[in-house]
Amino acid sequence: VEAFGPGLFIKLLRIVLLMEAIRSHSVSAANAYRRCSRLYYHQYVQGWQAVRKTSWLDFGTSIDQLLEVLDLTNLEHAISQIPTHFSNPFDQIDVEVLLRLWWKTFRNNPLPPHSIDHRAGNQFGFRLPFNGNEVTGLMSMTVSGYIDKVTLIAGDVGFMEGKTTSQAINDRSDYWSKLPMDPQIACYAWALSKEMGRPVNWCWYQVIRRPSQAADRAFSKTHKVKDKEIPYELEEYRARVNELLIKDTRNALVARKKVFISEEMKQAFITEHAQNYLDVQRRKEDETRLLENGLPGELAWPRNHFGCSMFGGCEFFDVCTGKTTIEGSGDFKKRIK
Ligand code: SF4
Repeated sequence: VEAFGPGLFIKLLRIVLLMEAIRSHSVSAANAYRRCSRLYYHQYVQGWQAVRKTSWLDFGTSIDQLLEVLDLTNLEHAISQIPTHFSNPFDQIDVEVLLRLWWKTFRNNPLPPHSIDHRAGNQFGFRLPFNGNEVTGLMSMTVSGYIDKVTLIAGDVGFMEGKTTSQAINDRSDYWSKLPMDPQIACYAWALSKEMGRPVNWCWYQVIRRPSQAADRAFSKTHKVKDKEIPYELEEYRARVNELLIKDTRNALVARKKVFISEEMKQAFITEHAQNYLDVQRRKEDETRLLENGLPGELAWPRNHFGCSMFGGCEFFDVCTGKTTIEGSGDFKKRIK
């Protein structure tokens, strides 16, 4: 450092950090790119994020946070935190019902956290290098992500992945048969195996179904009176959903499954993730070429209309349909790098 001076050292350090950031490909970035390359461009190249997330994302994130509070403290404390996440009083009742149901179903069967460098509560963050395999050839990439919780049960290390869904989650539901295709859990098993230096093959998949999506209007906030739909009184609604829960909706709203992730699934994940990353790099080169020729760089990132309505809708929909612009709408802000 003395030979080059502190200024040069800081510059070199910045270059190293920038190279590291460029090589990094997170699970969420790969998911965005799979869904739509234009979405990836807005979020990860331009760095925009919605000031307000879609209600679907809000719901999932808030539920995850409340379940973590429940995990780390107790039921009453978790319930007391609901108003900080949900302002609508009907939503507050739904979420309280879900937390009580969750507690009742799993309190005697907890997933104890395994403490290896836990950050942010139960979450475990990782950044791991990948230098290629037989399919991709030599390459250099960093895989990053967050695991909801690393667990240790009867000496067996595994991890928990929390999800919220609109689909049915009964035992015989299709929902479970698709799990072996989930790149996220294959990624976490791959990453944890590397971190631990031994195979990690078990995921506890914990799922909450959004009550408003439950079948047969079970959580409808209105009812018919003389052919008119009118809202329930709050306490009337609370009594109604509690009664429903005692009857038969228990298994339809919360569920947990232990899923085996094979070595083959992990290899399939890392190969696809690396190819996803290489695709992104090619699009970045295309974008640079377009800009050099005076053309809009976004042309390198085609839209995928199949992605627009996924997960409750895309936050860039009004931008893509020309109703507004990112800068002009006030709905987006730059991510902090
Ligand atoms: S609205 Fe549709 S096309 Fe536009 S970025 Fe989102 S997913 Fe892609």
